[in-house]
Amino acid sequence: MDSPNRPFVELRNSKLGPVLVKALQARHFDAEYFDDIPQAVEKVFSLIPGDHVISWGGSMTAAAMDLYNEAAKRDYKLINRDTAKTQDEKMEMMRQALLCDTYLMGANAISEDGQLVNIDAYGNRAAALCFGPRQVIVIAGMNKVRKTLDIAIARARTIAAPLNIQRFAANKTPCNISGACEDCKSPDSICSHMVITRLCKPAGRIKVILVGKDLGF
Ligand code: SF4
Repeated sequence: MDSPNRPFVELRNSKLGPVLVKALQARHFDAEYFDDIPQAVEKVFSLIPGDHVISWGGSMTAAAMDLYNEAAKRDYKLINRDTAKTQDEKMEMMRQALLCDTYLMGANAISEDGQLVNIDAYGNRAAALCFGPRQVIVIAGMNKVRKTLDIAIARARTIAAPLNIQRFAANKTPCNISGACEDCKSPDSICSHMVITRLCKPAGRIKVILVGKDLGF
């Protein structure tokens, strides 16, 4: 059941979303805000030509929006590492994804002045964000937005990462025991690469779709 606070959160999202769109556009991202998931999903697919090969980085936001199944239903060619039968095959598919046409991903945090913050274990998702795929579509719930870049980085490190690792019971990191980030150097750490996307270059290559809901970690 939704919290009684929810309508006020969503009302605030509907005000802050368009402000953030302007901040992102000032940094040369394409950006659009949607109050609801179905409109955001339609927008995502309207941005992807029918002949594009699509891949993605692990994103609970995209999963919550059912974007992967929707892409398959719409007959796009996919590079889906979850179909790999071995770890070697999975790593190879992650390499191939760097040359796909459209890469889908979430964001660990976004500052109100329009900078993206992402933390990655292997760096495949961070790499695709920086260079490779013809376009990257970042889909983010407004729960990812923080006032400043420093607070956004803190969100990524102390909220998103310790939540994300709960999906991997075998990873023996401090946060998988205590629930708190302890700035580890464990070989199991999922915090290897931290990327701040200050500007989108070339302009418009990264398209940010903001959704006025709580999505992902
Ligand atoms: S404890 Fe290690 S793996 Fe966990 S969030 Fe902190 S740096 Fe990342």
